[in-house]
Amino acid sequence: NKFEQLGLNPSILKAVEDMGFESPSEVQEKAIPILLQDDTDMVALAQTGTGKTAAFGFPLIQKINADARHTQALILSPTRELCLQITNEIKNYSKYEKSINPVAIYGGASITDQARQIERGAQIIVATPGRMQDMINRKLVDISRIEYCVLDEADEMLNMGFFEDITAILSHTPKEKNTWLFSATMPKEVATIAKKFMRSPVEITV
Ligand code: AMP
Repeated sequence: NKFEQLGLNPSILKAVEDMGFESPSEVQEKAIPILLQDDTDMVALAQTGTGKTAAFGFPLIQKINADARHTQALILSPTRELCLQITNEIKNYSKYEKSINPVAIYGGASITDQARQIERGAQIIVATPGRMQDMINRKLVDISRIEYCVLDEADEMLNMGFFEDITAILSHTPKEKNTWLFSATMPKEVATIAKKFMRSPVEITV
């Protein structure tokens, strides 16, 4: 099983086995060993359906401190559906890890309920940029201590007009974090975000 050669811990490998994944996809094979290293930023050019959620999800689960309750990772994603999908995948991948709690934050649902979920402890927040920015403005969420930021489908988020929100959100995060950007294409706006907020990212293409 090639998953065992990527550096993943036994509980993730067990979850992988339960899910019936036989071998890593190309983006997983390329990204996971690099993301498991300390202090890496990454720009990954990958389409949807290539297994990119696990490519960033496995390393995130392995790297965050499950014993701490504060928010350590923020995943920004363009739509409510994607947020829920990513949150569910992270729950599946981390089912053998104790107390990892991803929370989905998106518009069109009760902000009070979402704030309550965050209060209970969300080490990983999976959010759409609009609602996230709203919750930051209302001081319902604290991302001042995040160590990892994933920008998923960055080109889609920018197409949907989230440039200002993303920029504002990132300005509330510590400089010392690691940023992992996934995008199917590399238009100018995506390159601008990468240049402004990332530190010598490793680039991979699948
Ligand atoms: P994604 O590109 O992350 O949206 O993943 C697309 C689908 O592929 C999801 O339903 C995953 O559960 C599935 N998947 C991810 N990695 C693998 C793998 N290594 N083997 C088989 N299926 C996978």
